[in-house]
Amino acid sequence: MAESVLTFEEARAVVLQHAAGIAGVRVQHVAITGALGRVAAEDLRADRDYPPFRRATRDGYAVRAADLHKIPAALRIVGQIKAGDTFTRSVNAGECTEIMTGAAVPAGADAVVMVEYTRSDGDSVIIEREVSSGENVVPSGAECRRGDVVITRGTRLRAQEIAVATTIGSAQLSVYDKPHVAILSTGDEVVEIDQQPGPVQIRNSNAYSLAVQIERAGSEPVRLPIAPDEKSGLRRLIEYGLSSDLLLLSGGVSMGKYDLVEQVLADLGAEFFFTGVKIQPGKPLVFGKVRGKYFFGLPGNPVSTMVTFQLFARTIMDALAGAAPQSLPFASAQLKSEFKTKTGLTRFLPARLIPDITQPQVEFVPWHGSGDVFAQSKADCLLVVPPDRERIPAGTMVTILPLQ
Ligand code: AMP
Ligand code: MG
Repeated sequence: MAESVLTFEEARAVVLQHAAGIAGVRVQHVAITGALGRVAAEDLRADRDYPPFRRATRDGYAVRAADLHKIPAALRIVGQIKAGDTFTRSVNAGECTEIMTGAAVPAGADAVVMVEYTRSDGDSVIIEREVSSGENVVPSGAECRRGDVVITRGTRLRAQEIAVATTIGSAQLSVYDKPHVAILSTGDEVVEIDQQPGPVQIRNSNAYSLAVQIERAGSEPVRLPIAPDEKSGLRRLIEYGLSSDLLLLSGGVSMGKYDLVEQVLADLGAEFFFTGVKIQPGKPLVFGKVRGKYFFGLPGNPVSTMVTFQLFARTIMDALAGAAPQSLPFASAQLKSEFKTKTGLTRFLPARLIPDITQPQVEFVPWHGSGDVFAQSKADCLLVVPPDRERIPAGTMVTILPLQ
């Protein structure tokens, strides 16, 4: 089988290109209370203009701005309007009404003066500041118009979208089904958590870290039994895993004699889009399609598994979930201390953000390589080092990627 090792950017482009061709398939209806994190399967449109009336944004007095050219000015109070009140009379020259936040501004008035800038005087009020027409008033239809698309298909619903959907009265929402993502750990040395590992065995952490990464990203993990480093047992479990929407394998994709994942997939007729990426951690990453299903062969080292899931597999999983493609949420911070590495690979190394409102800093978390889950658990982001950088001086602005 021909090897195809890509740069980070090339591999991302391949994954994004495939993601663009995937649609969420099955659709279901959920109540708004269970819709957080689900992906909208249809466009949602505003049921009326928003705001539906001219909304006062402050407590104070609804006035005609033209009456306040000379300050202070006395205006006669002709009514009081609370949020929810209907006020039928018009405000004429020299008049005003008391008004509360969220109430409809009466006809004739075109601004609201904050109560803080007024003084009451019997039936009148003394206004001590000028206002311009439109001040403290949101015109009806300013936020959106009836019929406007306010949530597009493919949007993953956050608290903000729940607020929008509730505002427009969508008690039931049409969302995509969560894709089922099979997790198949491989390795003769790997044992389940309820087994006592022998002196040279290790516990299957990848199945659990992947399961929570999948769940947190809004899909449905399906954990399969551990596959042996032997072709027929591995093949049987891979075939079983292909009944899910996406298959994630961990381990068995390096260059060792017993790294059989690619061979077995090739025997099943797989097409490989790449068989390695010039990154650390995660260089042996494999991406392909077999029997109509996408798969990733994630390197078995636990940090590689987590990082390659976040950098690549998640994008395909999200596409299967019907979500519109998202860029990786790169950000930047100032490097706290000098960092040295070797050139050739794009690195995604464990790092910690030191929050600061003016200048966040980032510091590298010393690690023992891509098997070091303990270092990774001290990290809250990845320090992204381009393949041509050998030394980054302290104080440099560097790229980071928040960890999931
Ligand atoms: P491999 O990719 O199969 O060459 O494995 C690379 C390293 O990751 C080895 O040290 C494995 O023991 C370890 N490893 C493989 N699978 C798992 C797993 N499911 N959980 C934890 N570590 C693993
Ligand atoms: Mg292995």
